[in-house]
Amino acid sequence: MTGPTGEPLMSMRLRVEQDIFMVRQLGREVARAVGLESQDQTRFATALSEVGRVLLAAGPDAEVVFSARPYGVPTLHVTMARPVRGEADRLARQLQHVGRLVDTMEVEDGSTGTVVRMARRLPPGASELTPARMDEIRSGLAGHVPGSPLDELAVQNQQLIAALDEVRAQRDDLARLNAELEDTNRGVMALYHQLSEELEETNRGVVALYAELDEKSVQLRAASEAKSRFLANVSHELRAPVTAIIGLGRLLTDSASDDLTEEQSRQVDLIRSSASDLLTLVNGLLDLAKAEAGRIEPNWSEVDLKAMFGQLRGTLRPLATRPEVDFVIEEPAVPSLRSDEVLLAQVLRNLLTNAMKFTESGSVRLSARPIGGDVEFSVADTGTGIPPELHERIFEEFYQVPGSKPVSGKGTGLGLPYARRLAGILGGGLRVDSEPGSGSTFTLRLPATS
Ligand code: ADP
Repeated sequence: MTGPTGEPLMSMRLRVEQDIFMVRQLGREVARAVGLESQDQTRFATALSEVGRVLLAAGPDAEVVFSARPYGVPTLHVTMARPVRGEADRLARQLQHVGRLVDTMEVEDGSTGTVVRMARRLPPGASELTPARMDEIRSGLAGHVPGSPLDELAVQNQQLIAALDEVRAQRDDLARLNAELEDTNRGVMALYHQLSEELEETNRGVVALYAELDEKSVQLRAASEAKSRFLANVSHELRAPVTAIIGLGRLLTDSASDDLTEEQSRQVDLIRSSASDLLTLVNGLLDLAKAEAGRIEPNWSEVDLKAMFGQLRGTLRPLATRPEVDFVIEEPAVPSLRSDEVLLAQVLRNLLTNAMKFTESGSVRLSARPIGGDVEFSVADTGTGIPPELHERIFEEFYQVPGSKPVSGKGTGLGLPYARRLAGILGGGLRVDSEPGSGSTFTLRLPATS
């Protein structure tokens, strides 16, 4: 017969107190035979004797059936039944502590009486419960000779001693583990302290570094302001005498003045041209210094680009004297934008004069087109071009591409830095795309609304 409790191994009746020893011994035997380990044998046997004791206290005569389930999860079962109904609740309460000794325990009121069922899973390594093995276990149990209560007491004592030994070993293990844990904790704490000290030190270093950086940037700002102030003052002071020199030179060579010898007139011309170069430089420096010092306030208005392009065409065409160069001011593709008319014209004039200065043949072209919410002005030439590694350097004060000779006119190296400053003041930016030999395109991008 097979069922949830498997195949029967043996059964016995529980009538008198002596039988409790018998149940216990048999329980241990069965547990050993099906492959439970020694401690589990004791647990199982103890559970049986406890249930036996409680059942017997309720009244004599209970049936005990041992069985095993060899399939699925191999399990050892025991059913203890008393032919009296209605005791399940009380027994369940009394047997609560026994449940801990087995895997499952149920107390039920069945049709024939009260039934206690207990089960214990067999360890995975236990030998297989083949039909032959089951028969072997059955005959072994049938031939079991019950020992006296004294024998059982001796066995129980031995089991108790073994259990106590184990408890002591576990306690020692636990103490050792605790000690190790404490050591590890101490190590971790030491590491933590060391790390947090290092972190604190690093933090202090970083804070000091920041303070130093702040101080340096204050000094830098002060130095840059001093430089701008100095440039502005010096160039302002120079402007008057230089303008006077130019005027005096003009006076000397005037037809109304006394005639000069050829040499004298050549030298006066030289003085005039040098003075005029100097004036250009001084004016450039003054403009840049003003822009850097933040003293240029844009005068915002709606700028008519068509009109502005017309003016640029008119004022710059006379400079485009070379027939090999096409000077093209396109019709702007944007009618107007909000900006400062004077500053915008200044930037475009700088870019156009540069383009003409460095273009021997081909074209110089100004155009404007809308892009996103911005307007892009582009000044494209087919001139000498600029090596890529110098694309940023040309925006530095006084920087001129080594070996680059303007086709016409002169330069101070201040035009582009000034143009970029103005682009910034107008809320935009200035960049260059250029390749030596094929020309340059300077692009000024400004927001369409201020
Ligand atoms: P500069 O008064 O010398 O023109 P800029 O600041 O306007 O000073 O320009 C700096 C340098 O950049 C120029 O000397 C020249 O070497 C180079 N550069 C500027 N524009 C062009 C261009 N359109 N084509 C080739 N080189 C240019």
